Amino acid sequence: MARVVVMGGGIAGHTAALHLRRMLKRSDEVVVVTPNSNWNWIPSNIWVGVGKMKADQVTFTLGPIYKRKGIGYEQALATAIHPEGDASHAKPFVDLTYTDPARADEHGELEYDYLINATGPKLNFGATPGLGPDGHSNSVCTAGHAVEASAALQASIDKMKNGERQVLVVGMGHGTCTCEGAAFEYAFNVEHEVRQAGVRDLADIVYLTNEYELGDFGVGGLTFTQQGFQTTSKLWTESLFRERGIRAVTGAHVTGVEEGVVHYEQLDGSISSLFFDFAMLLPPFRGVDLKAFDAEGSDISAEIFAPSGFMKVDADYSAKPFEEWRAEDWPSTYQVPRFPNIFAVGIAFAPPHQISQPRKSTNGTVIAPSPPRTGMPSGIMGKLAATNVAEMIKHGASAEVRTASMADMGAACVASAGSGLRKGSAASMTMYPVVPDLVKYPGTGRSLDDTFGEIGLAGHWIKLLLHYLFIYKAKARPGWHLIPE
Ligand SMILES: Cc1cc2nc3c(=O)[nH]c(=O)nc-3n(C[C@H](O)[C@H](O)[C@H](O)COP(=O)(O)OP(=O)(O)OC[C@H]3O[C@@H](n4cnc5c(N)ncnc54)[C@H](O)[C@@H]3O)c2cc1C
Repeated sequence: MARVVVMGGGIAGHTAALHLRRMLKRSDEVVVVTPNSNWNWIPSNIWVGVGKMKADQVTFTLGPIYKRKGIGYEQALATAIHPEGDASHAKPFVDLTYTDPARADEHGELEYDYLINATGPKLNFGATPGLGPDGHSNSVCTAGHAVEASAALQASIDKMKNGERQVLVVGMGHGTCTCEGAAFEYAFNVEHEVRQAGVRDLADIVYLTNEYELGDFGVGGLTFTQQGFQTTSKLWTESLFRERGIRAVTGAHVTGVEEGVVHYEQLDGSISSLFFDFAMLLPPFRGVDLKAFDAEGSDISAEIFAPSGFMKVDADYSAKPFEEWRAEDWPSTYQVPRFPNIFAVGIAFAPPHQISQPRKSTNGTVIAPSPPRTGMPSGIMGKLAATNVAEMIKHGASAEVRTASMADMGAACVASAGSGLRKGSAASMTMYPVVPDLVKYPGTGRSLDDTFGEIGLAGHWIKLLLHYLFIYKAKARPGWHLIPE
């Protein structure tokens, strides 16, 4: 009998846990450690943030699903890993602090044979003074944040209805943020809602981003074929911003947010301030607060985690210039080299380098998007880790370990540009591979046949369909495992 502990019940961890339960014998144990009682389909938080969905439409309670599937569930934060055990544990174990109201703040220890770290990001609002719901701007990173953002946006819309002009700022709250796609979506949803409310002429909408140019999305932009011609996501996105009258400020690092004003520096070294009535600015991400200790109790966190707090896996982390980055630098099994029974998947693993070209301002400030690890790759990695753990449990050292590098993995992304069954629209993009491979695909680093972009009403329907499909899958309803990640 083996015990697999999955830290994190989000997109990657929940996927891993459900597949593990399906693949393993009943005598093997699968236990999820996660601090929230709810699962959240984060992509639809965008619609909660503009009042088009309620929080309970994008969340559901995890406990009953785990009970039905026979998955152990500890509502707790994992705080430390002991991969070698210690004097009182022969096996490796994880330290927990319970968030379950019935055991709040109690300490726990959970032994494991295999560990999957799927703890996602720490929303690092603290990196920028005044950023976030506890400061002076809104967020849509959690369903709760999105509810607050929706109320603040509605207050601005009400003021416009009374004839007051409003400045609405949407974007990235730090020069090293990732998830530009989410901010892009929210900016266009805000524009759509304001137009629907009949007050578009009173709204100045500004998209404030760390991207060097529009359409970068943290993946260095896309080149694709459209109606027989090659085009770029830059051209495509710029035209959308022009069409919808959204002003973009690119290459920006937000240095601070105060009541009604955001301060930022740009790549040319200029320092500016922008007054706003409503602001939704995403935080930068870092790894969650986890430590690692060896058998003697010495802190080995620096070996296991990168300075960003994300877990180091089978990637090439040697520092090298941009020109020397290779597709092979990216991990393919997501195992920790010294402890192959530990996997880190989804946002939790440390990327070896950026995907977009890194840049600094003339003052030396890093202004460069961090690599996104969106839902589809996160789900794929979760399933991959589950498959490999199941194989290792069944076949021991002779198990065939499968691989899924982001340099050999495609991703589909449907970025909503406004909700509505008749008037909605979305930008649908696919890219292959996510991490460009300039050896296989000289020029753009991606397959022109498998990289694609289109905008229109059909995209909105697809996004809505995916919302229902992925919630169905996450609820482990009949046939859930047939729905791809
Ligand atoms: C606003 C927004 C919109 C987005 N839209 C899209 C989209 O349209 N399409 C797309 O593909 N991607 C989108 N993404 C990205 C997508 O949400 C992420 O790729 C995905 O959630 C990553 O999955 P994950 O499992 O790594 O992290 P998460 O889904 O964040 O899960 C991490 C889990 O770990 C738990 N956890 C945290 N700390 C601990 C701890 N110490 N111990 C145990 N558990 C812990 C968390 O509570 C959470 O349950 C969006 C992201 C945002 C913020």
